[in-house]
Amino acid sequence: MTKHAVTVIPGDGIGPECVHAAIDIINATGVGIDWIERHAGERVFKQGIASGVPQETIDSISQTRVVLKGPLGTPVGFGEKSANVTLRKLFETFANIRPVRELPGVVTPYTGQGVDLVVVRENVEDLYAGIEHMQTPDVAQCLKLISAKGSEKIVRLAFEFARSEGRKSVACATKSNIMKLTEGELKRTFERIAPEYPDIQSWHVIIDNCAHQLVKKPSQFDVIVTTNMNGDIISDLTSALVGGLGFAPSANLGNGIAIFEAVHGSAPKYAGKDVINPTAVILSGVMMLKHLGEFAAAADVEHAVLATLMDGRLTGDVVGYDKGVKTSEYAKHVIANLGRRAEGWSVRTAKPIQMPQVSRNPVFRPAKTKEVVGADIFVESGLEPAELGKSLESIAEGAVLKLKMISNRGTKVYPDGNPNIDCVCHHRCRFVSRSGEPIRFDEALALAKKINETHEVCHVERLLRIDGKDGFTKAQGED
Ligand code: NAP
Repeated sequence: MTKHAVTVIPGDGIGPECVHAAIDIINATGVGIDWIERHAGERVFKQGIASGVPQETIDSISQTRVVLKGPLGTPVGFGEKSANVTLRKLFETFANIRPVRELPGVVTPYTGQGVDLVVVRENVEDLYAGIEHMQTPDVAQCLKLISAKGSEKIVRLAFEFARSEGRKSVACATKSNIMKLTEGELKRTFERIAPEYPDIQSWHVIIDNCAHQLVKKPSQFDVIVTTNMNGDIISDLTSALVGGLGFAPSANLGNGIAIFEAVHGSAPKYAGKDVINPTAVILSGVMMLKHLGEFAAAADVEHAVLATLMDGRLTGDVVGYDKGVKTSEYAKHVIANLGRRAEGWSVRTAKPIQMPQVSRNPVFRPAKTKEVVGADIFVESGLEPAELGKSLESIAEGAVLKLKMISNRGTKVYPDGNPNIDCVCHHRCRFVSRSGEPIRFDEALALAKKINETHEVCHVERLLRIDGKDGFTKAQGED
């Protein structure tokens, strides 16, 4: 018998109850697993380890490459970053796969519609890069980073995942109508790669409409690939379509590494009460068994969960905490049902996912032409836009750059600015080449330095034209 080594992190709050239920069930299938228990999260933060993830946990994961984990909490006042996000980033688990399906006995407004869909969420980029700065004492900024490499990896994975489960369509959900460069990168990548998967139908949907359509007619979706923040939000929504967070498993996948966990958090108010629903972690265990190639055991556990629910063994989140079966009893029912098939309900047969082959080297795609055509110089100022504009024009007199416009939180306020704008003290001052010819970036920096003698410059951003295309977007109201 193959013996698999798995790092198990019981986690915080309700984590240990859920994880132990899943371990007992998986052990009962007869699959040989050597569980190596390690810790992360609250207790680790409280030991003074700022990342919430100690070295021995990192070492164990580096060895086993497979993790089953409970949710991790970030106690207020300890650590700067979530231990979850740290784990995802440490091991570059770039994809988060979040399936939901209709379940017997769990009645929702969608019962009978056969909801069976998967959100494939990009897991390391976007606003979760966590690069935040105070630009002024009262204006904060978070960088939304979307790379061509990250987009390609997640799009390919979504299609490969669809193929591994015999799914028919992949929808790409973005906000590319507003964030043309960042969210647009995922959409363009999707449209470029989709023709390589002619067996799978592909379509794009704007993320807000996606949320609307998910509530209105969820059965139209099969696989949805999306950016990190969008995926975080819509996957909580999709879990509610099938009965809530107690039923939503997930897999964090990277190259040669996989971390399986529920979508839900540590729900501290239920910790230790033996009342919560462990299904999400158990189904995460099913995903783990598939990853380990134990497809028969995975199907056995999924069927046993379906049979248990079909028998009406429901936890308090579904039927009320005064009536629900206890977490530990639920696990025993699932174990007792191993080998049974839930009549009228099927489980998907799956094949191993062909992970996209990605070079570990940084992608450096030299442009054919890359020209600096201006600079956005951000200025902290309490002046009225007209006064600031006049001052900047006079400072830039004789420079290779001229002021084109000033915007405030994205809307043009100078010249001929929108009088309705309630300005804050953070102005994006767009300077463009006076001659129309490319400039040198140090000329923009020299101008920023000069402006800084009179005003307070927060930062400078190049305006690039890459391969003949503008690498920046216009302000609202800018010509
Ligand atoms: P949460 O722990 O997911 O709980 C929110 C609510 O969802 C609970 O109060 C409960 O709803 C319901 N719920 C969640 N899991 C359930 C289960 N297994 N069975 C039954 N009901 C369940 O979200 P949170 O309260 O926002 O976060 C608590 C902590 O978890 C935070 O420290 C957060 O950072 C952390 N977190 C960790 C992860 C992770 O490790 N991956 C993910 C998310 C959050 P009712 O109140 O309606 O009964």
